[in-house]
Amino acid sequence: MGGGPGANPARRDGCSEPYPAVSRIRVLERSVAERIAAGEVVERPASVVKELIENSLDAGTTSVTVEVEGAGLHLIRVLDDGEGIAAGDVPLALQRFATSKISHIEDLDGVRSYGFRGEALASIAAVARVTMVTRTADAGRATRAVVTGGEPERVEAHGAPQGTMLEVRTLFYNTPARLKFLKSPAREQALIADVVQRAAMAAPKVAVRLVFDGREAIRWPPAEPGQRVADVLSGGKPDGLVSVTARVPAGTIRGWLVRPEGSRPTRAGQYLFVNGRPIQSAMLRRAVEQGYAQLIPVGRFPVFAVFLDVEPGQVDVNVHPRKAEVRFSDESRLFGAVARAVREALLASPLVRQVAPTDMAAPFAGVSAPPAAGAVSLVLEAREAAGTYAVGSATRLPALRPIGQLLRTYILAEGPDGLYLVDQHAAHERVLYERLLAARHRGDVTSQGLAIPAAVDLTPAQMTLLVGHNDQLRLLGFDVEPFGAHTALVRALPTLIPNGAPAALLLLALAALNGEEEGAGGDPLERLTIATACHTAIRAGDPLRPAEIDALLADLAATEDPYTCFHGRPTVIAVSGATLERWFLRS
Ligand code: ADP
Ligand code: MG
Repeated sequence: MGGGPGANPARRDGCSEPYPAVSRIRVLERSVAERIAAGEVVERPASVVKELIENSLDAGTTSVTVEVEGAGLHLIRVLDDGEGIAAGDVPLALQRFATSKISHIEDLDGVRSYGFRGEALASIAAVARVTMVTRTADAGRATRAVVTGGEPERVEAHGAPQGTMLEVRTLFYNTPARLKFLKSPAREQALIADVVQRAAMAAPKVAVRLVFDGREAIRWPPAEPGQRVADVLSGGKPDGLVSVTARVPAGTIRGWLVRPEGSRPTRAGQYLFVNGRPIQSAMLRRAVEQGYAQLIPVGRFPVFAVFLDVEPGQVDVNVHPRKAEVRFSDESRLFGAVARAVREALLASPLVRQVAPTDMAAPFAGVSAPPAAGAVSLVLEAREAAGTYAVGSATRLPALRPIGQLLRTYILAEGPDGLYLVDQHAAHERVLYERLLAARHRGDVTSQGLAIPAAVDLTPAQMTLLVGHNDQLRLLGFDVEPFGAHTALVRALPTLIPNGAPAALLLLALAALNGEEEGAGGDPLERLTIATACHTAIRAGDPLRPAEIDALLADLAATEDPYTCFHGRPTVIAVSGATLERWFLRS
């Protein structure tokens, strides 16, 4: 039960500090209150749910139930079994700037509780009809208080178990303007579910239940952090997640990453926590996305829950009225460390896609995460100590025995655990891209002079690009120079391109430099590298001789990331022997 120090399950996971069992509520001194980021806490029903759940977690509850009716406008009821509020403190709890969590401004730096401004209950009570029933462990009876429009109507004794029940009815009844800014009921309900899920991941030891209009939407028992993340992100199956643990400047990160094929068209599946608190941080989000770079298609977004724990002095949680945004002291080092940790963990996990055996009618239609591969845990500290970032052998393609070519597009091969299908174009793209990149980094891209320089007509815009980017073209092995106002002379091409058509290749390179390519991200040189590899790669439809198949598989096995092409499409798909058995109804 809630109460004593260390008895607070909400605090145990996000951070190790015991949460002091201060339960006396005080009105903050004006000077303290004014230095806390002020602002409207109650924007929409989901904000009410967030504040009430956080209060329950701060009170050390072991379970929290959220009941919602009419998308939160008719009723929001949050029930916990936490430490409760002493009868004499009930009127104070509903007053602005009344809090039991801090009393001095210095306390703000070490704040570990979700709340600390003493503002939420008062703000909610100002725009709704609020009923509170609460009882501490040592009280003989519970206290019941009803507040409408900020004024306590009744405070009376009541029968109830230990804990607190907060009921918020007719939200925004006296602020019709606020109602106009709400989205559709379905959308508001989704925002409520999101808030509940975030809190559930921040406090996995707490049982969570969410009920919409009498229908149970969530019921999660207390769980380990990874299991709770899986409840939210992958239908309860932790196998679909890659876990990451790493040391970062002034702290550690722990995260669970949905495999690249689980990417979504929006950022809705991205969850970040700092010191146990759900937060937004464009910097951290980009760092994690950077770790997924080129593993997922352009325009799609990775799904993850990442928990950062840093010394309280390294992070400022008090920059946002709803404490939803944070600031870090050393952002660029943190960015690099997070991106690298995520990348390493993803590359170290088996990224071969497995065909799911679920859809018997169209077995090749569904592609999903490997069912039994297991989450790969990666502890970077050991590697850091060893001074190496070499990617483990788990990333390598297993030894494959080629069977042949299918539809002149795919290579079929037998691997240790079943059938492998390799997309010949995507695989060759990956091979060429890594080769070009390596040569570029070594500064030894070789070029092949043309017997007869090729003259290519250019528009004025193309000519400007050529002149502006000639150094980059040279870096990749192109030797091109302007020849008069409208023509370029191609003297040499990258050796990698066996017999490319000079004109087509130059126009493609210029388009890439200009960012016209599909998914044009990265710097111009990166785009040029990608365009060159793509143009040069074996195409779908090209027949391949057995020796060419052998060479391609060997080259692919030698790449750093054999499982995806740089457009984020898979290069390899595996169908396990067990899946084949199920398809043939042998098991
Ligand atoms: P804050 O959380 O910032 O302190 P609130 O207005 O949310 O401010 O709550 C005011 C006070 O009421 C809290 O400091 C806490 O002492 C008490 N309180 C609110 N909700 C609960 C709860 N569910 N269980 C126990 N105490 C609560
Ligand atoms: Mg609060």
